[in-house]
Amino acid sequence: MEVPKSQAEWLQRHTEMGPDDIPRCKESKSKIKIRIIGRSIWIRPILGGSGKVRRIAHLYCPVCTPDPEFPRYGTPIFEDELIEDPHKIVYKNQPAL
Ligand SMILES: [Zn+2]
Repeated sequence: MEVPKSQAEWLQRHTEMGPDDIPRCKESKSKIKIRIIGRSIWIRPILGGSGKVRRIAHLYCPVCTPDPEFPRYGTPIFEDELIEDPHKIVYKNQPAL
């Protein structure tokens, strides 16, 4: 699954890998959570795309961001702003929403 690049960078700064291969917050040690949101994929240089919606993983720390705000379904994102989940953290134990 893909994540926004900004989220992958945040993950590197904010987390360390736990023994169960689930990243945890460096401060609170809580497991990073995931929310899957359908995003319209845009392709540069045009501001638009095929209209396809892909499932994109959005990450958050439930302690540092107890009430996270997510983009709404269909909110566009450029394809080059996505990266394949670097840690394969779309864990088995996370429900796909
Ligand atoms: Zn945190």
